[in-house]
Amino acid sequence: MSAFSDHLETVQDRISRAELRAGRAPQSTQLVAVTKGHPPERVREAIEAGLTVFGENRVQELLAKSAALPSSVSWHLIGHLQSNKIRKVLPVCSLIHSVDSVELAQDVDRIAAELGLFPQILLQVNVSGEPSKFGFKPDSLISNLSTLLELKRASVIGMMTMAPLSENPESARPVFRNLRGFRDRCEAESGTPLPVLSMGMTGDFEVAIEEGATHVRIGSALFV
Ligand SMILES: *Cc1c(COP(=O)(O)O)cnc(C)c1O
Repeated sequence: MSAFSDHLETVQDRISRAELRAGRAPQSTQLVAVTKGHPPERVREAIEAGLTVFGENRVQELLAKSAALPSSVSWHLIGHLQSNKIRKVLPVCSLIHSVDSVELAQDVDRIAAELGLFPQILLQVNVSGEPSKFGFKPDSLISNLSTLLELKRASVIGMMTMAPLSENPESARPVFRNLRGFRDRCEAESGTPLPVLSMGMTGDFEVAIEEGATHVRIGSALFV
């Protein structure tokens, strides 16, 4: 067995145990394998081990790898998106996790119409209030919610957040719990389902699953 499949098995086992602890259905968590900084050959190994969903935080790297690898795999953009890159990324990206402003969402919507696409997007929320982080402030998202949910082409299907870096995964728990609660409130106020919660990375994905993550974005634990 390759080193990659060893790491994958460990990660999948940890995901399964977190699902079990949380009383969740087995395999209710989508693993997004974060390939940033790793060459296409490493991603190929991951594809051979059975993975199909990959995340990149930079558009340029996403474009290069998606062009080098089979079109049967899905690419998610998980990092900040600049408006001038939307046109390039939309055709090759199946989910944007990191829509962090109304203007960006509107630009995605407009360009999607020009390209004849119907992209799915997540709203990145800065739950922890760290000034260095991208993302909507919850209050600002609430005031813009109807605008965001009424976009014609771009469908908002959920939310994403990043917890502050910490040695202790438990310190992320309140952040994840807050995102879930905030999502529940947005669903109740809008009457629109927002089923996807993208939260949890190598350092805190088990806590995120216990708090309701549907998508975990894992890099280092897989590509050591
Ligand atoms: C790099 C990155 C990850 C994965 O981080 P690891 O700690 O390596 O698992 C997840 N989400 C985002 C937005 C990232 O940029």
